[in-house]
Amino acid sequence: MNDVISGVPQLEHHIGGQSVPPAGGEYFDSDNPATLELNYRAARGTSPDVDRAVRAAQEAFADPRWRDLSQTRRGRLLRNLGDLISEHAEELARMETRDNGKLLREMRGQLATLPEYFHYYAGLADKIQGEVIPTSDRRVLNYTQREPLGVVGAITPWNSPLTLTTSKLAPALCAGNTVVVKPSEHTSATILRLSELALEAGFPAGAVNVVTGFGSEAGQALVDHRGLAKISFTGSTATGARIAAAAASRFIGSTLELGGKSPNIVFADANVANAAMGVVAGIFAAAGQTCIAGSRVFAHRSVYEELLERVTERAGTIRIGDPMDELTELGPLAFADQREKVAGYVELGEKEGARVLTGGRQSDGGGLGGYFYEPTVLVDVDNSMRVVREEIFGPVAAVMPFDTEDEVVALANDTEYGLAAGVWTTDLSRAHRMASRLEAGTVWVNTYRAMSPMSPRQGFKSSGVGVEHGQETIREYTRLKSVWINTSQEPLADPFTMRS
Ligand code: NDP
Repeated sequence: MNDVISGVPQLEHHIGGQSVPPAGGEYFDSDNPATLELNYRAARGTSPDVDRAVRAAQEAFADPRWRDLSQTRRGRLLRNLGDLISEHAEELARMETRDNGKLLREMRGQLATLPEYFHYYAGLADKIQGEVIPTSDRRVLNYTQREPLGVVGAITPWNSPLTLTTSKLAPALCAGNTVVVKPSEHTSATILRLSELALEAGFPAGAVNVVTGFGSEAGQALVDHRGLAKISFTGSTATGARIAAAAASRFIGSTLELGGKSPNIVFADANVANAAMGVVAGIFAAAGQTCIAGSRVFAHRSVYEELLERVTERAGTIRIGDPMDELTELGPLAFADQREKVAGYVELGEKEGARVLTGGRQSDGGGLGGYFYEPTVLVDVDNSMRVVREEIFGPVAAVMPFDTEDEVVALANDTEYGLAAGVWTTDLSRAHRMASRLEAGTVWVNTYRAMSPMSPRQGFKSSGVGVEHGQETIREYTRLKSVWINTSQEPLADPFTMRS
């Protein structure tokens, strides 16, 4: 992290508690998406780097200093790490804003809650326990214990690297595993810093390793490594499918948090002013680069025009510009291809018959020249169009009217995804009814984008497999062992029949 070539920071891998240069000797550039300035060069990880990192994690896993550490002490390390993140919050927030263009004000908010994730799993560490099972033979003691798996490979995307890595790292460590992280090539800096802070917090060298590089190289090498006991992945559905297949072929588990095309539904009885803010938050926050983006908006025909008016009015006044500026509301897209993809989808939508009500153009971000794109609302769309079916991952909302509850349930569920859904209504019965009828792992009523380390989340359908956050996720990072102890010294009777 401290080496410098021509004034540009050079980032190395973090392996076994050390800063390690890439085996292949190559580095790749990472720029600031708002200003297009070169941010740093990062180590281009390849198979030998991944192998070295997995070995370091295996050694740390087997080391009595980690393996035999009491669960309470493991929790204390997680608490230390949460505290250190608080101390370094501003540094981390700025670093991530420079990496992916996320608003500094949003990053400050994320950094205010990130320590809570570590603190939550700190508290949970000494509550991981088994059960005593009352089998029919009272002389036999049967109990279960939850054991760590070994080395967890964590592969994370660029849109919220710190938070999404924490969702894996904190429970994996809480359960006693060691970890190798492969962050997105676009966002290496904060994850490397996080691994340094983990060392400072007291985690042994090798407990947290980071190999930077490209998905097709370092990522693929990690997925293919035989030393992994588990893969935890957040990213696109296409990559997730390949990772699930690779994990299944080796009989190791995978937790997958994938894409979405989430419906945000506004009923006639909703507080339309609040619903409009919820729609704006759902699709324009983080420039729409969130897996939970409320990209399909369904409004009851009686409030359709009013909602559109409110949303487009607010979209038109969104301040686009420098993500470091506290007043900015919409920063750039994270990299050039991402903006091309978004622009391409809007063009495609128009060809399919959609009308751009507002936005639909690139922006220079107030002269900064980065990868900015205007907040965009598409109308005259329906479920048959690709802009309504496919994840755009940008600030583009497709807004459609509906007439009945049954109709909107069918439309909302008519998607391969099932990550999240929003419902805006003041009818309590309808709220509960919709919560159970929508095929999504998270349903928000009269709110959107709410998240907590305590609340489990899971993608349904092509949006994922397995649970993140909450107590439930500990199951993803442990295996269950059943132990049978015969407490009696009575002669063992018939050896040819099963005992219980
Ligand atoms: P990708 O699937 O392309 O990449 C995700 C991660 O996987 C990156 O670290 C990437 O590395 C790596 N990767 C890419 N190819 C491989 C491979 N063959 N083997 C191993 N690793 C690989 O997704 P994006 O980066 O484009 O992220 C956006 C996607 O993530 C969206 O579809 C979004 O919905 C989803 N997402 C889901 C969330 C959830 O919780 N459900 C949250 C946030 C995003 P590199 O970047 O270097 O290519």
